[in-house]
Amino acid sequence: MLELEVVGEKRQETLGHVLAELIDTPCILYLEGDLGAGKTTLARGLLRGLGYDGRVKSPTYTLLEPYELADVSCHHFDLYRLADPEELTFLGIEDLLHDDSIFLVEWPERGKGVLPPADCVLQIRYLGDRRQVSLIPASEKGVQLINNLQKVWQFD
Ligand code: ADP
Ligand code: MG
Repeated sequence: MLELEVVGEKRQETLGHVLAELIDTPCILYLEGDLGAGKTTLARGLLRGLGYDGRVKSPTYTLLEPYELADVSCHHFDLYRLADPEELTFLGIEDLLHDDSIFLVEWPERGKGVLPPADCVLQIRYLGDRRQVSLIPASEKGVQLINNLQKVWQFD
């Protein structure tokens, strides 16, 4: 596990950006934390790092926002409004996961049982004007990602 103190929105985006540079597809990241924790901010930074420069909308109402980029396809989920995990089956989630896929999932606990397992779980907590981001590996790929992040992250 790696724990980071991330100060400010910009820095939260930077963390996403750095993760994008290190990520090896296919990869599934769970983003956990209360409303306003900074999950979408991190996802936005990650999408920027993958080369997407358009607007990153929060998929709160659509459940899923797909981004087809040059080398990867990134699916950004927000399952806050998911009533039943089976809705993910209707969304065709199984067909979305390919060798070049990244899944970023906000509120993954709502998709329990249907959502594929994470490689890495990011838990985000309020810490006054900053956030504590705990990265917990959940696969060998997750371990690698966190090791590599630890090597390049500029600790304050
Ligand atoms: P969530 O998707 O978890 O509901 P958002 O990403 O929409 O949360 O962020 C909510 C607010 O938190 C935004 O105003 C954002 O600027 C702020 N924020 C995000 N990360 C940080 C951080 N590391 N430090 C301080 N504020 C942050
Ligand atoms: Mg959000």
